Amino acid sequence: MTGVARLADLFDRARRPVVFTGAGVSTESGIPDFRSPGGVWARFDPREFTYRNFVGSVEGRRRYWALSRTTYPLIRAAAPGLTHRALAALHELGRLDGCLTQNIDGLHQRAGLPDERVLELHGNATRARCLDCGVPYARDEIHAWLEAGVQVPSCPVCEGLIKPFTVLFGEAMPAGVMQEAERRARSADLFVVLGSSLVVYPAAYLPAHARHAGATLVIVNLEPTPLDARADLVIRESTGAVMDAVVADLRRRAVAPEGANRSWLPTPS
Ligand SMILES: [Zn+2]
Repeated sequence: MTGVARLADLFDRARRPVVFTGAGVSTESGIPDFRSPGGVWARFDPREFTYRNFVGSVEGRRRYWALSRTTYPLIRAAAPGLTHRALAALHELGRLDGCLTQNIDGLHQRAGLPDERVLELHGNATRARCLDCGVPYARDEIHAWLEAGVQVPSCPVCEGLIKPFTVLFGEAMPAGVMQEAERRARSADLFVVLGSSLVVYPAAYLPAHARHAGATLVIVNLEPTPLDARADLVIRESTGAVMDAVVADLRRRAVAPEGANRSWLPTPS
């Protein structure tokens, strides 16, 4: 049995399948992996773009927004890719309990995965808010200010500090989000890593939590990961091709059951 067929089988049998998505899922949509060779962090020093520098100095914020002005248009222009669409299809088939993502581009939701199914571990780049009065701002609006020459956006309501809704270097993940992610990881019976090299902590602990709690662990990633040795199945292929084939396999099973009771599958619409 091929890796794809085994993975389709696992999704078919799982009661609470959870996926964990990383940069590899978004690079298929044309969003560069900042950590890859030649990526943003090969040209900029990530130590300058810390939470401390951002909230601590106008100069830190000026540098952040100058970089963000060049990276945000890539996110805004990207369209959901094969993996995003396959996961939305899995949800429609009733075969996806939740999606924990390290990505900040909002592409899972734009592909049709409902908001409540997606847990954004590192935040969302399409939103921002005032740290002082809490007023939310669309990143599009802030981008327009940057394009109009504003170097350090401040809140039009209270002149407070506007921060993107993303988790910056050195910034703690929101406690509620991390707790909820751990809860979902521990309650999963199938945990599938898609396009993450599992090197950014604490998010990378989640597959280990799931495995400890008894989930079957599957890793689909082009490169080896530190958890490969503990995974039940490792597929070293692009996530889009694999998940597209998994969905096609599950749809075939739904249409032509092979003797087994598949009554729980919704009728394809
Ligand atoms: Zn404000």
